[in-house]
Order: sequence, then C-alpha cells, then structure tokens
Amino acid sequence: MTKKSLTILGATGTIGLNTLSVVDQHADRYAIFALTANSSYQQLVALVQRYRPRYAVLADETHAEACKRQAVDCDGTTFLYGAYALEQVASAPDVDIVMAAIVGAAGLKPTLAATCAGKRVLLANKEALVMSGNLLMEAARKHGAELLPIDSEHNAVFQSLPRQFGDLSTHGVAKIILTASGGPFRKWSPSELDMATPAQAVKHPNWVMGRKISVDSATMMNKGLEVIEACWLFGVQPTQVEIVIHPESIVHSMVSYCDGSVLAQLSNPDMRIPIAYGLAFPERIAAGVASLNLATIGTLNFEAMDFKRFPCAELAYRAMEMGGTATTTLNAANEVAVDAFLAEKLSFRQIYHGINFVLEEATLKSANTLQDVMAADSEARLMLRDWLTTTHGTRRIAQGVT
Ligand code: NAD
Ligand code: MG
Repeated sequence: MTKKSLTILGATGTIGLNTLSVVDQHADRYAIFALTANSSYQQLVALVQRYRPRYAVLADETHAEACKRQAVDCDGTTFLYGAYALEQVASAPDVDIVMAAIVGAAGLKPTLAATCAGKRVLLANKEALVMSGNLLMEAARKHGAELLPIDSEHNAVFQSLPRQFGDLSTHGVAKIILTASGGPFRKWSPSELDMATPAQAVKHPNWVMGRKISVDSATMMNKGLEVIEACWLFGVQPTQVEIVIHPESIVHSMVSYCDGSVLAQLSNPDMRIPIAYGLAFPERIAAGVASLNLATIGTLNFEAMDFKRFPCAELAYRAMEMGGTATTTLNAANEVAVDAFLAEKLSFRQIYHGINFVLEEATLKSANTLQDVMAADSEARLMLRDWLTTTHGTRRIAQGVT
C-alpha cells in the first residue's frame, strides 16, 4: 500500500497529538511530511526526533534561535520559521492529507492554502470556516479539495448523511441536531457564572481540549460556532440547525429526516474516532478507542438549550443570519474576549457583552475576498480591545473576577 503523506498543522496541540496517536497505529498507511507548532519548540523538536518528518515549522519566529539550539539529532528534517512556512507545508505537492488543527484565526491562511492545493483537508480548525466559510467552501469546489469535518458533531452528521449528500431537500433532510454537553457550568446560576474563573472554565467534564475551545465550551460559544460550521459544511440555513444538551457526550449529533427518522452517530467521547474516520474515509480503520458499552452507561439524557444563561450561542445564530463579514467579526471578537478572560482581564459573563457590542457596532461588508475577511477580523479585534479599556468594560471586569 502506498503511504499517504500527512502534514499536521498544530501538531503539538490536543488534536495534533491525537492525530499522531492514530497514525502510530497505522504506520503502514501514513507517513508524516510536516509537523508544525506556534512557539512550543521543545515539544516540536521532541516530535521531530520521534517522527522524523521532512519539514518542521515553528510559526513564532522569536523562538527560532532557541529552537535551532534544541534541535540536535534532527538530521533529515528541515526546520522552517514564520507563518508563511505553514502555508508552504500545507500546500506542498508531495502532501496528500492536511490536518488543520491550529486554533483560531491563525489557521485560516494555511487551511486555505491546503484547500486551494486540492488536498484532503481534515478540518478541526472551525474558526477558519466561521470567519470565511464562503471562501473556503468556494476554494474546495474550485480546486477539488475534500473538506472533511473533524469536529465530533460535524463528523457525526457527516456519518449520518447519505454518502452522495448534495441538496438537502432531495435527500429528505429536515434538520441537523447538534448535541452539546453543556460544558462545566451547565447547572450554574447567573450569579455563580459571574464568579467563574479561568481554571474552572477550562475543566471540561467529558473532553480534554485546548484552553480556547474549553472556554468556548463553557460559554457555549463553541456550539454557536458549530452552528455556523454546520451551515457552511452541509449547506443548511441556521433555522435548520438545532442544539440539544446531552451531558454524557455519547450521541455526537444527529440528522433528522422528513419521514420522522433520526440518524445519529454514537461513541465514547474520544477525538481519535473522527480523526481516524477523516484519515481513512471512505474506509474505516481502528482508532484505538474502546467500543461503546451502552448497558454500562445505562442512561442517556437530553435537555433543551438555555439561551438565557448561555447567550453566546444566540449571537452565533444572529451573525450567520446577518451574513457577509458578521461571522468573521463574531469569531475575532470572541478570540480577543476569551484571551482577556483567560488573562483575568474580563469576567466570564462579560465575554458575551463584549462580543455583542462589537457585533452591533462593526461595519457589515460582503466577505468575498481574503482582504475583506482580514479587514473585518482586524476591525473587530481593535473594537473589542477598545471596549475592554473603556470604563464600561473595566467596571464590569471588577464585578466578576475574584
Ligand atoms: P490546542 O490549543 O491544544 O492546540 C493548538 C495548536 O495550534 C498547537 O499546536 C499550537 O502550537 C498551534 N497554534 C496556536 N496558535 C498558533 C499560531 N498563531 N500559529 C501557528 N500555530 C498556532 O488546541 P486544540 O484543542 O487541539 O484545538 C485545535 C483546533 O481544533 C481548534 O480550532 C478547536 O476548536 C478544534 N477542535 C478541537 C477539539 C478538541 O477536542 N480539542 C474538538 C473539536 C474541534
Ligand atoms: Mg465539537
């Protein structure tokens, strides 16, 4: 069997390491072409020493010298530095599959580069799609790229749709139901939410994830971003995407058909399953995850989403309805607000107010080019930073963070 050549963008992160864990089980199928990281050069060098890729990229050039000193016994691997190198290893002719697992807007350009080069793109980096769904989907069509969802919900939907999925109505699809665990604060009252700390927010009950997506799960903006992601990936309207709370994270999402049937994908919560599915599609390969024992689990619970306590999800629906650059604005404002929360400069519930402010005030434009998207992204970041420094923002910060 000819091995597929793989670039992992964000190799040192949770998704990156899970991808390597699946690759470890299938050394006969996959070869690592490139591994990338932002600034964690020690971790990157350790991965290079183990996997011996053709290229390693450190995006943050300020650590280049330290990385070079660290990179002993790395013969055979060329180290590249700077953000542009991410695009190079994502689009190189020898690459078959690109795992897009950089967190946040930083992943957009390399993910777009892989898409424009017609690769199989395993899309974990949902922010890229939220900020520029139009561009990415167009690029995939134009260049014949396969954009396969790795986010567990979208992977579940993908598995529950007909293989030749095209037009929703011709296949009798009525709606998509995204499940949400509800995050660590599912049962918290508004006054408790006011006091929520970063350490509490990043402690997800069912999944081990990076800090940004963990906070997004706590605010439930993650589910909002996933609604937008579903609209782009599956060509549906926001009104056709529903959220249901499912605390056990066993049912990963569902497709509801016009005859009343609902198809779902179930498994233990482990990202190696969607990763393995994306790597081998349309085949299935072992992911190293125990199969589900429903008798042991016993009960699966479902409850309605509470948009009042978790209003960030509603912002995402609104942005998708607004269209144009609104989802770019939403994503950028959210990234800055989450950073501020993690740095204890903003209280938990003020994350919503900051994003809401920016979404209302930012100029809505069409999102037809990368320039449109990058301009909206910069404007939203500036607006949220300004909002943070006003007395308005500061007074509210003082209320929340202990
Ligand atoms: P993480 O924080 O654990 O890892 C992020 C990776 O991106 C690291 O390798 C880091 O070095 C790299 N990175 C960060 N900033 C960068 C920059 N500016 N330039 C280049 N590289 C940069 O995050 P994660 O949990 O692995 O999530 C990665 C992506 O996958 C996110 O978009 C997240 O929403 C999505 N996702 C994650 C999970 C999960 O279970 N962890 C599930 C679904 C979707
Ligand atoms: Mg998800």
